Amino acid sequence: MIEANRQFVTPFTSNLFLGGLKPYERLVYGYDNLIGRGVRPVFATVTAIERTAREVRLADGTRVPYDRLILSPGIDFRWGDVPGYSEEAAERMPHAWRGGDQLLLLKRQLDALEDGALIVVVAPPNPYRCPPAPYERASMMAHGLKARGVKDARIVILDAKDHFAMQPLFEDGWARHYPGTIEWQDPGMHGGIKAVDPRAMTVTTDLETHKAALVNVIPPQMAGRLGRDAGLTDESGWCPVDAGTMKSLIDPNIHVIGDAAIGGDFPKSGFAANNEAKNTAMVVRHELVGARLLPVRFTNHCWSSIAPDDAIKNGARYEPRDGKIVMLDPYTSQRDESAELREKQAKEAVGWYRGMTTDIFG
Ligand SMILES: Cc1cc2nc3c(=O)[nH]c(=O)nc-3n(C[C@H](O)[C@H](O)[C@H](O)COP(=O)(O)OP(=O)(O)OC[C@H]3O[C@@H](n4cnc5c(N)ncnc54)[C@H](O)[C@@H]3O)c2cc1C
Repeated sequence: MIEANRQFVTPFTSNLFLGGLKPYERLVYGYDNLIGRGVRPVFATVTAIERTAREVRLADGTRVPYDRLILSPGIDFRWGDVPGYSEEAAERMPHAWRGGDQLLLLKRQLDALEDGALIVVVAPPNPYRCPPAPYERASMMAHGLKARGVKDARIVILDAKDHFAMQPLFEDGWARHYPGTIEWQDPGMHGGIKAVDPRAMTVTTDLETHKAALVNVIPPQMAGRLGRDAGLTDESGWCPVDAGTMKSLIDPNIHVIGDAAIGGDFPKSGFAANNEAKNTAMVVRHELVGARLLPVRFTNHCWSSIAPDDAIKNGARYEPRDGKIVMLDPYTSQRDESAELREKQAKEAVGWYRGMTTDIFG
């Protein structure tokens, strides 16, 4: 397992850190527990995939040959799609969409806000990593401000989409927990982002210019650079795969999993990425050493916290059909469900995180 960083900061539940419900240290994992379980971590940046030679090249020049390559390069940002936004601009207007320093920066900025502060969140178009997460983030920011007693703060979400995941549930929760604090604008209302200016801390839409104390730009996304540089993406910017095997449609010796892959209704979530990894391991073992092959199936469940003890969820099961992944039996929380159920779901989310991180990191 070749990984650039010795520590992984889970983007999942990072919104709880912003809301003050979880310390940063509890998002951070290392890989030591995998040693002795058949995994040999190699900490290095992969600089190239030589597809014809079937080798990956590391930053120090080492070449690692492979029979099969399983690639999970994550996401990158389409910086220029938000006029004025760039890697440099992110130092003032953090995206905080990949954990790490950006997340710490956003938290520091949030904690420094005073009465009357305006926060602008720029939410991305589909498809992107974790559809409900921008709205969970707005909820957790509002909770953090409320808990600190900050008065008259406002959060304006400027969305690239006409609607978003679990919208009626979030809006209901915002009205109950943070009345008058969170305002969501669709493109029909704001008319599009014309510019962000990190020096002036302004976001200009067709409708108006917002002068904000904090701007969180979550840019449009695409497959991580490694997938793009290796020529494994199509015109969508993502890596097309066969859903039954997660094999790249461009190179059958490479399986692409996680957020970088597309091929039907794949949810871009950690839950799904973990399922895809296990299915891929089964397919590779079958093809290389004749191990048993079971039908590829997986599920995805996503919990979102609106407030402490008020979590909603949605999910579905997934099956490959004609090479594409198809969503079956989707479900979602209901607006009129009891406070007890919401509290139970918040506890489920904690249990899921514990189980998932133990599964991944040992
Ligand atoms: C705010 C937020 C909340 C979320 N909440 C949830 C949730 O509640 N539930 C859920 O299931 N999901 C959630 N997610 C989504 C989840 O975090 C992602 O779907 C998941 O991390 C995707 O995994 P991945 O392997 O595709 O990418 P990543 O997690 O980004 O992993 C990619 C890895 O590849 C490494 N890498 C990349 N390039 C190289 C290279 N050249 N050389 C070596 N290593 C390299 C990186 O260092 C990284 O460790 C959330 C995401 C966000 C942002």
